[in-house]
Amino acid sequence: MTGVFSLLPEGRPGLLLPHGEAGPGTGPSGAGPGEDLGRYLARGGYAPLPDPDALLDRVAVAGLRGRGGAGFPAAVKLRAVRDAPGRCVVVANGEEGEPGSVKDRWLLRYRPHLVLDGLRLAAAMTGAARGWVYLSDDHAERAVRRALAERPAEPAAEPTAEPALDVVRTEHTYVAGEESAVVRRVDGGRALPTAKPPRPFESGVGGAPTLVANVETLARIALIHSRPDAAAAVAAGHLVTLSGRGGADGATALLEVPAGTRLKVLADLAGHGAAEAVLLGGMFGGLHGDGWPDLPLDHDGLRAAGAALGCGALHFLHPGDCPVAVATEAAAYLAAQSARQCGVCVSGTGALATTLAAVARGATDDDPVGKLRRWSGQLPGRGACGLPDAAARVVTTLLDRFPDPVDAHRDGACPACARPAPEDGRRFRVPVP
Ligand code: SF4
Repeated sequence: MTGVFSLLPEGRPGLLLPHGEAGPGTGPSGAGPGEDLGRYLARGGYAPLPDPDALLDRVAVAGLRGRGGAGFPAAVKLRAVRDAPGRCVVVANGEEGEPGSVKDRWLLRYRPHLVLDGLRLAAAMTGAARGWVYLSDDHAERAVRRALAERPAEPAAEPTAEPALDVVRTEHTYVAGEESAVVRRVDGGRALPTAKPPRPFESGVGGAPTLVANVETLARIALIHSRPDAAAAVAAGHLVTLSGRGGADGATALLEVPAGTRLKVLADLAGHGAAEAVLLGGMFGGLHGDGWPDLPLDHDGLRAAGAALGCGALHFLHPGDCPVAVATEAAAYLAAQSARQCGVCVSGTGALATTLAAVARGATDDDPVGKLRRWSGQLPGRGACGLPDAAARVVTTLLDRFPDPVDAHRDGACPACARPAPEDGRRFRVPVP
């Protein structure tokens, strides 16, 4: 997927991001973080919006779904905020908690005008007078602040006033991008999820109806506005982060592909064709072995297969990678990232992690596998955010789909685990160029 309606540079099917710290200055323009305003304007950026409702209808017809993880229809969310009583506000959510995802930070660093354009369009469609870009990344903040300073004050013939936009920094944690955590942080508190209801669209920042929209969703809204002829293709595109130790030239890949692309095609594009399994959705979609190459990259198809697309991060397991070790590391990472404010999460996610670690060490006392099965069935939906659900799905999919490696650990005979695995999530952390 390339061309002027693509989020990635023209003429390239995707970016290959080298392992190691490439750092700023290696972006698509070669000029460091940021985006050339002149080029963006020449491609139709910041075009006037004479009829916000017409754009909202176009977003609905195109079938755009949110890119933060849940895949909720973008137009439904926009309308809910627009129709809520009181003056609303908008937030561009660029805080990606999944350690295996780079797309949101990449967009903020290298396409900040595209994101800001989408944010001002979202403000116009909902009637918001204020908005924020929510982020934790230093390079992204620099690029966004520069873009804010240079963006056109008010597009010609604009019937709606430009919203006042600013940046809100947050800490980088797994839960900081959850939408109620975003609201709490913009209000000056810590980025911790809150109980729902109310949802942000009902009562968010300062009590106002609040649209919290992922930055890729906003970027696609901007492209749907500037390229109405390509609206369906724009809405169908997904940015995906592909990682795993067998990638092409040791690289992590950020690709833009149409919904429905088979995972095997993705793996081949990024040098993961030899992979035997995949961890989907960052950590939210669980582990998948037999049959994974034929799975389609879309929310409904993956849900039907007991998986989840989440933020579009895929971590491939190659020969020699043990799924028990990967699941153990993922569960430990999630337990460590618990915000420790819901009892069921503190005790449940922690118990999953420690018991799975015991299974990985070969422990058999007190039926640890039976406990894992029982607890992972009880946890989903019981925390204020989706972290316990992610931990439960990792465990459930491991037990259901990888019985042989689990048995090998019980017998102390896993050949892949002769060397100790990292225990703090390092396997999943990939750099942004
Ligand atoms: S479920 Fe866990 S991570 Fe989520 S808010 Fe509750 S304690 Fe925090």
